[in-house]
Order: sequence, then structure tokens, then C-alpha cells
Amino acid sequence: MRPTYLQVNLAQLRQNLDHIRAKVAPAKVLVVLKANAYGHGVDGVAPFIAPYADYIGVATVEEGIHLRELGIQTPILVMGGILREQLPDFFEHDLTLAASSIDLLTAADQLAESTRRRIKVHLKIDTGMERIGVREYEAEALIEKSLACSQFVNIEGIFTHFANSELEDAQLKKTMVSAAVQLERFQEVLYIYEKRSVPHPSIRHTANSGATLRLPQSYFDMVRPGVLFYGVYPERDIERTIEVRPAMTWKSKVVFSKITKPGRAVSYGSLWQAEAETRIATIPCGYGDGYFRRSTNQGRVIIKGKSYPQVGRVCMDQFMVNAGMDDVGVGDEVTLLGNGIAPEELADWAGTNEYEVMTSISARVPRVFVGGVQ
Ligand SMILES: *Cc1c(COP(=O)(O)O)cnc(C)c1O
Repeated sequence: MRPTYLQVNLAQLRQNLDHIRAKVAPAKVLVVLKANAYGHGVDGVAPFIAPYADYIGVATVEEGIHLRELGIQTPILVMGGILREQLPDFFEHDLTLAASSIDLLTAADQLAESTRRRIKVHLKIDTGMERIGVREYEAEALIEKSLACSQFVNIEGIFTHFANSELEDAQLKKTMVSAAVQLERFQEVLYIYEKRSVPHPSIRHTANSGATLRLPQSYFDMVRPGVLFYGVYPERDIERTIEVRPAMTWKSKVVFSKITKPGRAVSYGSLWQAEAETRIATIPCGYGDGYFRRSTNQGRVIIKGKSYPQVGRVCMDQFMVNAGMDDVGVGDEVTLLGNGIAPEELADWAGTNEYEVMTSISARVPRVFVGGVQ
């Protein structure tokens, strides 16, 4: 195996889920496994965690099909936007449709009725994200259509998604919609059912990680924590009302080590120069693995318990660190993330967020799953 790999602690993920569940009970938990389980490796995470999840959330139809091919039998909600021509896959693979328009719901209903096959549907209400879904002020028509669907269509859920749930009111800029306002709009939509004296869909859900941490009134019947399940908080100074820890450790090994003379610059663009003789160690990992090029001259790694700065341009397949005069040699283990290097740090070096750090770790990096046997 490659010396560069991502170790994923499944027991930690399980513990994170347990802690989330303890906080939100009796609400159910939808575990978000999109984007290769936020980079952790869905092939290892999904079979392990599915038995403990009430629902699974993915972004795309393909991700849903992949889970079914892995043998996952838990209900799967495809949360992202889809094209009408993808509808047959929902029937074929028992995926739950997020009905984000009346047209889509109508097409699903027609297909269900003509093929006499069943489909589960969650109505997607757009209360302020302006991404997909039917706006709260147009929701009555969607609900009307849903009530008129054939017996083959099971309107199981209704949901919305927050744009800024991780922020306190005081942190919101003028243009930002608060989770409180979005919740009110969602409640208005639920009130339509009450007005008509018809039961609302049995699974109402709104809470992403920020809302799961901050807004118990947003739990309804199910929560959808993504980043929090992976042990990372959606905002640096958010109140940590649920204790979780990251489950990934990105490791590599020194493949080359030499003393560089003053005046010799390291890597493309010669962006870093040694002032005195110093040991430069080469790590076989680069932006082709998802170690951001933007973190050039800003990153750090840990070798034998000590922190060393990343120097020179991060290349596609390798980067260098300045090991000073320390005894750092070929084969020494290197930690790129985890064990004292937080995802927040990598995010800062590259001017991005923790979500992007995790989901960017490329397919070239093997995932090694530990802690899976309970
Ligand atoms: C990705 C996603 C989530 C999870 O978001 P986090 O911020 O990671 O908790 C929840 N709901 C929907 C619809 C999503 O697309």
C-alpha cells in the first residue's frame, strides 16, 4: 500500500452518532454520506454505520445507487437536485425522492402509476436557501398536488434546509436569512396541513449540523447532521452542545531526506530558500491527493511528535518540510491531519473550510478503516 493513506476511526464515528442521538432523541437521525462520506470513504463508512442510522442522506442518485450496490438497506434520501430522466432510478433502487417542484412530483406520480411501482417522497420546501425546492409562499400548490398523488406515491416527509444555522443572530449580516426566520416559514407551511385538517407527512426535518447544535426547536421528527457526525463543528466558536471528535488521520512517510545548502530554493517557483544548512524531507503527497497547493509555505506536519513547517510550492504528488537539524529520515511516519493538526488548520492555510478539506482528499489516497469491530 501507498505510504500516504487516510486512517478512519469507525468507532469514533459511532460515538459521534451516539452523542448526537442522545441529544436529539426522540428525533431520528439521518446520517449524511454524500461526497464519499465527507471524504472518509463511503465503502467503509456506510456498511459500518448503516445499522445505526434511521435514514441515510446523499446528494446524487449515483451515490444512492452505489450504497444499494454495497448492500445497504436503510432508507436513502437523495437530497440534491435531479433531472426528470433520473426518476426511474428511484424506483429501481428504492431511493427516496426530494420533490423540489410540482413538475417533478407530477412526473414521479405519473411514472409510479403507469408502472405500478412505489416511490417514497419528501417534499422539499425552500424557506430561504434559494437553491432547490418550492418556496414557502408557493407550497400550498405542492401540498395540494401531493395529496392528489396516486396510492403508489408515499409522501413520507417534508423538509427544508438552513443557510446560516451555525451563526448566532448577532453574527448575521443584514443580507443573511436567520434559521429562526426559515423555521417560521417552515411552520407556516406545516400550518397548511392543520388548516385543511389533513395529517402532515410523518417525517418533518430541517436540522443540519448547526441547527442540531443550536436549535432544538428545529429537530421535528429527524435531524440531518453531516459535518458534526464526522466530528467537526460547522463553525469555530459555535457552542459545543454535543461532544464529537474527528475520525480521520491523514498519514504518510518521509520518502527522501537531505541537507540543503543556503541559497538553494525548494520546489517550483523557488518560493522558499534555506538561510542556513537545513534538512529538507520530502513527503509523497500533494495537491493531486487533496493537500492544497494554496497551503504552500503555510502548512505544518508532525514527525515523531514534533511539528515542522511545510516549505516551497506544494507539488501535485509531493511536498517538502523543513526538519531543521533534527534526525528525520526516510521511512519516518508523518501526520498531515489529525493527532494535533485540526481540520480547521488545514482549512485556514488554504483559505477554505473544513468541509472542503475533508471532501478534497482524493481517491488516490487509500482509506484504512480501524475500530470497526465492536
Ligand atoms: C449536506 C447537507 C446536510 C448536512 O450539512 P452539514 O452542514 O454538514 O450538517 C443536511 N441537509 C442537506 C439537504 C444537505 O445537503
